[in-house]
Amino acid sequence: MKIKDKEFDIYLNTSQIEERISQLGHQISNDYAHCTPLFVGILNGVFMFASQLFKNLSIQAEISFIKLSSYKKLNSSGQVTQLLGLNETLFQRDVIILEDIVDTGTTMVQLLEVMDELGPKSVEIATLLFKSDTLVEKLDLKYVGFEIPDRFVVGYGLDYDGLGRNLTDIYQLKS
Ligand code: 5GP
Repeated sequence: MKIKDKEFDIYLNTSQIEERISQLGHQISNDYAHCTPLFVGILNGVFMFASQLFKNLSIQAEISFIKLSSYKKLNSSGQVTQLLGLNETLFQRDVIILEDIVDTGTTMVQLLEVMDELGPKSVEIATLLFKSDTLVEKLDLKYVGFEIPDRFVVGYGLDYDGLGRNLTDIYQLKS
């Protein structure tokens, strides 16, 4: 399969992906049976995972989507992460962050720092894919769909240069 200049091989097919998401849905439904969690999906890549996971929940739950943007503070080298589009208050909520893929973990660590300031009761992470070999941050990922090797993937919401998000299987860059 070719997208722009790159060749990809199939890595996970739709039924494998959806079977695993169904298991995650059941696990989360059991873990959160006592409350009404608020899922916060990180756009753009998470839309397919979020949709499929939500269909597999048997509990009451809310969902919201945000975009992350980062900017450099004046007179500081540190990056500041902003959450765009969050209308719900996270105060005292049981939050489950939904991500398409965690690679180095940098994005997630920055997001957790910003979220913590909003006073949630609890925060857990659910990611469809996890490149465990490249993780450099200390992160506790409670719900992981698939641990995958350090090779670029597209499909099921993930893009290569804006394309490939509509593929219902996940493809890996050809070596
Ligand atoms: P991190 O901050 O964990 O290094 O990076 C996470 C972000 O990098 C993801 O949200 C995603 O946008 C991007 N990313 C990392 N690996 C891949 C990959 O294999 N394919 C695609 N499409 N995006 C990736």
